[in-house]
Amino acid sequence: MTANLLDFDLDGLAVFCEGLGEKRFRATQLFRWIHQRGARDFDQMTDLAKSLREKLRGCAEIRPLAPLSRHDSADGTIKWLFDVGGGNAVETVFIPEDDRGTLCVSSQAGCAVGCRFCATGHQGFSRNLTTGEILAQLWYAEHTLRAEFGQTERVITNVVMMGMGEPLQNYSALIPALRTMLDDHGYGLSRRRVTVSTSGVVPMIDRLAQDCPVALAVSLHAPTDALRDSLVPLNRKHSLDELMAACRRYLDHAPRDFITFEYCMLDGVNDSPAHAQALIDWVTPRRNHPGVSCKFNLIPLTPLRPLG
Ligand code: SF4
Repeated sequence: MTANLLDFDLDGLAVFCEGLGEKRFRATQLFRWIHQRGARDFDQMTDLAKSLREKLRGCAEIRPLAPLSRHDSADGTIKWLFDVGGGNAVETVFIPEDDRGTLCVSSQAGCAVGCRFCATGHQGFSRNLTTGEILAQLWYAEHTLRAEFGQTERVITNVVMMGMGEPLQNYSALIPALRTMLDDHGYGLSRRRVTVSTSGVVPMIDRLAQDCPVALAVSLHAPTDALRDSLVPLNRKHSLDELMAACRRYLDHAPRDFITFEYCMLDGVNDSPAHAQALIDWVTPRRNHPGVSCKFNLIPLTPLRPLG
């Protein structure tokens, strides 16, 4: 079977190259060609020995995702829909700002969490993306935009794992993808500029702290368990208390000294002054209540249908 080289972080690629009888520095060269220079064709990789290029042609490929559509907005935002087979598609969004270019990347086709206000949640879960499919979104966007903007330097400075899916429910594919984003031979992004957004998979927040502590965002959306149980069903498994404790533990490892809380404001559901006060009470440290260092991102949202 032909291996997709986008499926490997640098350690994985080194093991693959070892299997071909090649030394680690060859894997590093190959990794740089793929991720830094956007090469797909082994013949372009002129500093690799001809014999290695031949071996690679026989057993490996760099498999991109096919864009089904692209939508460019007046503010420079670009939205791609990528085909991931089986009738499934995932969305990737580039958001340019004066001082940064952010790519919002999907981790799953669909999502099993089923948040009540979310279009992806309503669609249900199809499957986890592979590491190669996660990285293919970044690979495609970075090298397409570099060519379009006539730029040789990096276009995407920030990645947020905030597209379709719950990234911490696709952990084994996520970690090599994050490592490739951070790797100086890959995309060389700083940990502070790569964000994993979760709806609150508490045990995996702890694992992420150990394995690859990047910036963390939590989709909070409610200040009480009763309300969050109904909006974010995962809360029935991991309560707000548990989630806040995991956030505090994460801060010991995080590259930033705060957690970002995403809060979709749903008219008449979670947006009253009492909800705001309850949130402040949650996060503010006081006697017998440690609070948590955080920043809120308030998102006005129109639900797909009345939440009742
Ligand atoms: S976890 Fe994210 S993608 Fe999944 S249903 Fe909730 S909001 Fe939607």
